[in-house]
Amino acid sequence: MAGSDAMTAADQLIATSPVTDRVNLLGLTRQQLETFFTDLGEKRFRAQQVMKWIHHRGVRDFEEMTDLSQSLRTQLGEIAEITPPNIAEQHDSQDGTRKWAIAVEGGSLVEAVLIPEGDRATLCVSSQVGCSLDCTFCSTGKQGFQRDLTAAEVIGQVWLAINSYDAWQSGKGRVVTNVVMMGMGEPLLNFDNVVSAMSLMCDDLAYGLSKRKVTLSTSGVVPNLDRLAEWADVSLAVSLHAPNDALRDQIVPINRKYPIARLLASARAYLDAQTDKKRVVTIEYTLLAGVNDSVEQARELAALLKDYPCKINLIPFNDFPNSGYQRPSGNAVSRFWQVLTDAGFVVTVRTTRGDDIDAACGQLVGEVVDRTRRAERHRAGRGDHSLLESGR
Ligand code: SF4
Repeated sequence: MAGSDAMTAADQLIATSPVTDRVNLLGLTRQQLETFFTDLGEKRFRAQQVMKWIHHRGVRDFEEMTDLSQSLRTQLGEIAEITPPNIAEQHDSQDGTRKWAIAVEGGSLVEAVLIPEGDRATLCVSSQVGCSLDCTFCSTGKQGFQRDLTAAEVIGQVWLAINSYDAWQSGKGRVVTNVVMMGMGEPLLNFDNVVSAMSLMCDDLAYGLSKRKVTLSTSGVVPNLDRLAEWADVSLAVSLHAPNDALRDQIVPINRKYPIARLLASARAYLDAQTDKKRVVTIEYTLLAGVNDSVEQARELAALLKDYPCKINLIPFNDFPNSGYQRPSGNAVSRFWQVLTDAGFVVTVRTTRGDDIDAACGQLVGEVVDRTRRAERHRAGRGDHSLLESGR
């Protein structure tokens, strides 16, 4: 664990940037920034200059943008800002995984986690504060929904991850090679802001990631998946978690509205609309002991996905307090994997990373919030006590 000693979460919540009416340039796409500058009577290429300062060099102070005129720098200082969210806590796992609780405007927390693996480093990014979809095995779902993140708060997680390694100028190689929209929240319920942030992830003037290396994961908001191809060309993951509607209705409630057949058809249409015909959908399947991890259910899943363009990622459940579920045994995971592999699927099993730093999605934020509430109660308790002591 690192960084949490320096400043407590409660301190950081208070330190969260005040609301201003300046335009936060961090979350503007290339097109939006060009419009911003032409509206000021400037040339469009100012957008390119400023994007490089923000996303290639990590610069937030307009005075450091030496290829802008002094008068423009002064003007920007008056009407605009470059404000990422704040890191409330940073935890480093022994396996190299780094996880952040990030304080966003209003004092709420979201999570981001960077998972290094060989020459890759995958950043898992949140899209909402909490989540309304209430999947029964999900720590984030149990926290309820508060609000959508802004585009600046979504892309700000990438900015913060790079900044936390002081890597802008170091030439150490890329800190973030892949991004998965798989953190807290359902990205397709925050459509516009997520699309803007993904556009910045892929833009050469920002993070320049290839479309294959940015993945949006959805639990099945079908109407928005139906229109995603018009707006974004990225990789797609579907959080399936069950081989039939009866079970999925129970553990992923949005399935009652958009059942499996509709979801898979929509995901396939998204693939069909893309120029790269080699792409497949990643099917995410969280294995819950005694719920969806039997050999029969593996066979049912194989039949469901027969001839479907996909690979399958099995995720043994990461337990968290009061989850009501258990992690499956290694044998159960192996048997499930074997059935699917024998049926001809490409199947990966997600290895647990960051076990020592609250690996389940939403778990770190849940713990920080609990700790902060406990501290508040403790302070309140002390206040009462002092009143008693003073005899009033
Ligand atoms: S699994 Fe995803 S969609 Fe479901 S409640 Fe959790 S964050 Fe929301």
